[in-house]
Amino acid sequence: MNYIVLDLEATCWESKNKADQNEIIEIGALKINEDGNIIGEFCEFIKPILNPQLSDFCKNLTTITQADIDTADTYNIVIKRFKKWINQAEPFVLCSWGFYDRRQFEKDCKLHKLDKTWLSNHISLKHQYAELTNLRKPIGMNEALRREGFKLEGTHHRGIDDARNIEKIFDAYFDYWVI
Ligand code: AMP
Ligand code: MG
Repeated sequence: MNYIVLDLEATCWESKNKADQNEIIEIGALKINEDGNIIGEFCEFIKPILNPQLSDFCKNLTTITQADIDTADTYNIVIKRFKKWINQAEPFVLCSWGFYDRRQFEKDCKLHKLDKTWLSNHISLKHQYAELTNLRKPIGMNEALRREGFKLEGTHHRGIDDARNIEKIFDAYFDYWVI
């Protein structure tokens, strides 16, 4: 079993109109093997098709630039590379901090009329962490890092940095996640 610890960034707005649909603009992911070793890393930007112009709010939040997006491929192309990188020939489970990332993948797959079945092997580390450590409710990644005595390294709200920080918590509880 390989574990894919991932984090997505998406288009966003300070105050969202109903018509504005969030689309993934970055996938950051680490592949961890049965022994708990990081054996691969995936980081790609994605050019959104509905709102290819990032809002100032989104650029400020994520530090992702318009140039990062302009030179990126669209979701349908990047997701092909991502699935190839996951390597579905081996058993895998997608792990993210909450269910947001899975839902956002589902939305983008629907938008691009792509298969969603590969998303079914997914767990929320955020919810399992709350159960494992007897918290009353799930907490943010920031707070979990602080509780565990880990530093938030890199830039918060950058997919690859968030994934690396989430992986620290993933690693600390490696034997306890319920797949
Ligand atoms: P995160 O993994 O916490 O960086 O968040 C993933 C995505 O959720 C971001 O790329 C944004 O699209 C959205 N998001 C996160 N925080 C906010 C916020 N405070 N306001 C609006 N959207 C947000
Ligand atoms: Mg993030």
